[in-house]
Amino acid sequence: MALSEFDLIARYFAPLGQNGRGVSLGIGDDCAILDVPPGQQLLVSIDTLVEGVHFLPGTAADNLAYRVAGACLSDLAAMGAEPAWITLALTLPEAEELWLKSFSGALAEILDPWNICLVGGDTTRGKQLTISLQVHGWAPKGKALTRNGAQSGDLIYVSGTLGDSAAGLDQLQQKGDNQYLIDRFYRPTPRIETGLAIRSFASAAIDISDGLLADLGHILERSQVGAVVDPAKLPLSAALKSYPAEQTLDWALRGGEDFELAFTVPPQQQQAFESALKDHLVPCTQVGQITKDGGLQLQQPDGSLTACTKDGYRHF
Ligand SMILES: [Mg+2]
Repeated sequence: MALSEFDLIARYFAPLGQNGRGVSLGIGDDCAILDVPPGQQLLVSIDTLVEGVHFLPGTAADNLAYRVAGACLSDLAAMGAEPAWITLALTLPEAEELWLKSFSGALAEILDPWNICLVGGDTTRGKQLTISLQVHGWAPKGKALTRNGAQSGDLIYVSGTLGDSAAGLDQLQQKGDNQYLIDRFYRPTPRIETGLAIRSFASAAIDISDGLLADLGHILERSQVGAVVDPAKLPLSAALKSYPAEQTLDWALRGGEDFELAFTVPPQQQQAFESALKDHLVPCTQVGQITKDGGLQLQQPDGSLTACTKDGYRHF
């Protein structure tokens, strides 16, 4: 029955609409009314997951919540923004109570530590499960990180470790049991704290959704610069190292959906940056340097440089 379905949905999503910061009027009217704190700018991004396109039918509801929220919040992290609000649109084949409970429970786990509040949403019935999540955050006026600020000589850093998500997908496909890698695929951690920590030092930043080479390529395009990356410096997890070295390198350079941050720091800021992040929970590793031009090049063990063609970015 339509009414009971809506009651069901309201029951599971109402708890996500509590305790928002700057929420003048939350769920329940035609629109939410929101206050961005004085001196801050609003940053907005949206992601959609479609069953059969972005995930396999039958993927667990809690994993879907982690994946869509992780990807979406990662975009705010990449710009050094603090998350505040989300809106959610769900298309469901049926309003199944267990699914709603699991999805909304997992979403709450992600939102609660950041006091992120659901301020609106829409649910419809449709054949294909589709999840659209929009995130809203803020950053001090003029301080948000963008892709276009990298300059020749800047040092290139990445957060965390690379290639784990691609290895996690491989584990799922090969029926492997490395839970760490599988979780890195299903449950990416948006690097919000890291985005905030690097905000006053970084000249450009992006989150790694399509692989380091592809996403660094976006910074190079927007900043009109080149780069040299040293593959020997790429941070790899112990779990990833159980794969052959050639495979790990390929995933670390080209594997998508790690949702780590790649960013550039001017050399004159390096010392202040590294001492400010000394106790930061997520290690940041220098993996290369921005050059005046020359596109994106990989440093070989003998010191020579190999060009990465644009096609080379998109390996998958
Ligand atoms: Mg992004």
